[in-house]
Amino acid sequence: MGCRHCGRDPVSRPRGLCRSCYYVLSIRDQYEPAPANVPDQANVDFCGCGQVPTEPCLSLPGTTAKILCLAERAAARQSLWHPRDLRLWHLPEPRWSQGTAEVEVED
Ligand SMILES: [Zn+2]
Repeated sequence: MGCRHCGRDPVSRPRGLCRSCYYVLSIRDQYEPAPANVPDQANVDFCGCGQVPTEPCLSLPGTTAKILCLAERAAARQSLWHPRDLRLWHLPEPRWSQGTAEVEVED
């Protein structure tokens, strides 16, 4: 399916736009965001602060697990960040094991 504006490039951004068109504000403003109840959650245009997720993410920043966690939070219209998410500076002496750290995060 082609971009709603240029019809040339494939849709890769919310509002049925391609990347080039989506990042031009004057173009993006011409198209309404998708309604919140559309079944394709990956195409929902979500902006702003959502509710804080119920559980912190204990995957390290930059790992695939962390990115998947962020995607799930965005699809659920939650804030991307939890105050107790694992951060690199929380790791005094990290012991790495398959992309996750084996440490306890202090409050
Ligand atoms: Zn386009």
